Amino acid sequence: MRRVSILGATGSIGCQTVELIEAAPDRFETVALTGGRNVALLADQARRLKAKIAVTCHDDCRAELTERLAGSGIAVASGDAAIAEAAAMPADWVMSAIVGAAGLVPGLAAIGQGATLALANKETMVAAGPLVLAEAARHGATLLPVDSEHSAVFQALAGEDRGAVERVILTASGGAFRDWPLEQLAQATPEQAATHPNWAMGQRITIDSASMFNKALEVIEAKELFGLAPAQVEVVIHPESLIHALVGFSDGALMAHMGAPDMRHAIGYALNWPERRDLPVARLDLAAVGSMSFRAPEDARYPALRLARRVMEEGGLAGAAFNAAKEAALDAFIDRRIGFMQMAQVVERVLDTMSRDGALRVDSPGLDAVLGADAEARARAARTDFLTA
Ligand code: NDP
Ligand code: MG
Repeated sequence: MRRVSILGATGSIGCQTVELIEAAPDRFETVALTGGRNVALLADQARRLKAKIAVTCHDDCRAELTERLAGSGIAVASGDAAIAEAAAMPADWVMSAIVGAAGLVPGLAAIGQGATLALANKETMVAAGPLVLAEAARHGATLLPVDSEHSAVFQALAGEDRGAVERVILTASGGAFRDWPLEQLAQATPEQAATHPNWAMGQRITIDSASMFNKALEVIEAKELFGLAPAQVEVVIHPESLIHALVGFSDGALMAHMGAPDMRHAIGYALNWPERRDLPVARLDLAAVGSMSFRAPEDARYPALRLARRVMEEGGLAGAAFNAAKEAALDAFIDRRIGFMQMAQVVERVLDTMSRDGALRVDSPGLDAVLGADAEARARAARTDFLTA
């Protein structure tokens, strides 16, 4: 029996993780499930998986969660500290599927107990990659990527000579607006941005796919996870989303990972690793697929990719500031305070001013420095003169 916990159980990744665990009750024992506002679902999941504890990050949701779990024998807790404590409860495998920088501290708590951390929360590696790798090494924790592209790279690297890796190519669908005329993008609404051509995901990551901030985060995530130089991480638009990533080796070989665009593959791979087991994922019929296409991302349409390059070159706290500024800009876009193309402007201004003030130049930043840069970037992004840029 493997003891498992799911951080962000009520989200898109979390629900699919619950589904896969529920399908193999003889193999998994659930320790902790965490969620946010969706306490009805959290309570239902906790009962179904017979979890030891259910935790909501919101104190004002605790009473309802307690009521819904009355008589179940399942413990209840609330608040950010309780989420981190739940992540630290002894488990063999922990899914990190909270959205945003809020996933960092709970992820580190899971690493601190030496658990295998299945990492869907890409913000963890973007904000604090070197710190996370150092902590994982110190505690003997294994990191398994769940982001589909990074799972694909991980699989393509299995058994390979890491020294022979020349480059990693991440594919991008291009998001909701890949075929829109450029001049219309400024008018795009949150509803339009929140529809994805191929993948069913949470609202925030879907909008980030339309702006390519998602791919920007993934480029940085790949650099950190696989120890690559910035120039070794490339992005290509692949509208069909059937190849998830490719690894190029020094002998010219390209190892591509293909499959249906279904996150249950990457989640299930991490859940069963190092084994492979049957998963309820559609099998590709290549003759029916017919053809696949690729093209270079346009700089003008996707400024986020240029910003990712800059963040990788700058290092230090640039990743933490970049991610936080992006989250604040995304909030502003969802609240209709800024337009779609202004998100990148806000993020760039935050990076410019923090860089100018020397606020990003810290060697081997610890958690306090990362959280400080995160808070500072959010504060700067919220300043009106940036939001009306
Ligand atoms: P969702 O928005 O669907 O789910 C987020 C989860 O986190 C929910 O359980 C939510 O609770 C909880 N949550 C929200 N805010 C907080 C907080 N401040 N503290 C603690 N918990 C919180 O996100 P996704 O599942 O789409 O994404 C999760 C992560 O996985 C992200 O980092 C994303 O980039 C990454 N990812 C997602 C993919 C996908 O297919 N969805 C693909 C690849 C990566 P509640 O809903 O109850 O309020
Ligand atoms: Mg991805």
